[in-house]
Amino acid sequence: MAVMTSPNRLLAMEQLLSKLKETFPQLRFSPGSTFLWSPETNEVFYDERKTVNNKRIWSLLHETGHALLGHKSYQADIELLKLEVAAWQKAQEIASDFGIKIDEEHIQDCLDTYRDWLHARSICPTCTTRCLQQSDMHHYRCHNCHTTWKVTPSRFARAYRSVKQTPQTSALLHANELSL
Ligand SMILES: [Zn+2]
Ligand SMILES: [Zn+2]
Repeated sequence: MAVMTSPNRLLAMEQLLSKLKETFPQLRFSPGSTFLWSPETNEVFYDERKTVNNKRIWSLLHETGHALLGHKSYQADIELLKLEVAAWQKAQEIASDFGIKIDEEHIQDCLDTYRDWLHARSICPTCTTRCLQQSDMHHYRCHNCHTTWKVTPSRFARAYRSVKQTPQTSALLHANELSL
């Protein structure tokens, strides 16, 4: 479809944005330094840098998926993984309505990075047993050796560990939280 075959990807991004705004008037899209769904402000932020590629288009669709599903932050880690999967499913639905194709491998890469991150948080630093998050969302406790360790509250984490970002506000820390 025209959106994806355009040689001018920046134009494609702008077309997608205006189509999203038109299709989902209940959502707010704001330019920012990264792609991010902010349940706190009910906004989908999009990276407005001028280099645009497919991954950025897919990211925008993914964050829109979170928004349409009304996802909230601060769930247990295990819940967040389900929400990530659901957001990608929603992104696929929007994409197919818009005649865009999201690469399945990209989705799996994102989910794998997410799984790795969740896994790393849940491993006991003392005996490497995989453990359960405590209900306060700030701690894990080892059922084997009883070590307790602290983690940052999980939110929708972006898949790209290497990407540095400037958060929109302090409430919107996102990529940085891939630290354990
Ligand atoms: Zn997500
Ligand atoms: Zn342990």
